[in-house]
Amino acid sequence: MFCTRCGKENAEGSAFCFSCGTRVGEAQPGKRRQWSKIAGILDIVSAGVSFVIFLVWAIIWFLGAAALVLTALARDEFRQPLALSQDA
Ligand SMILES: [Zn+2]
Repeated sequence: MFCTRCGKENAEGSAFCFSCGTRVGEAQPGKRRQWSKIAGILDIVSAGVSFVIFLVWAIIWFLGAAALVLTALARDEFRQPLALSQDA
């Protein structure tokens, strides 16, 4: 982008003119707004991704815990009739 005061070319995205120090970032407020919009979308997307990862982890953990509990319960249920039949 070119400086509005001295006309020197500056690197894209620079906030100030490296030659005279004039603010050049404000020359394209729409572009900056677009970038903050993209950053906001990325923020939401990354938050959603981490939430989904947490949800999947929680479901796997819950299934694992449920499987452990159910196996323990099933083992106890199978053990009792066997013990009774052995007593009889
Ligand atoms: Zn300048």
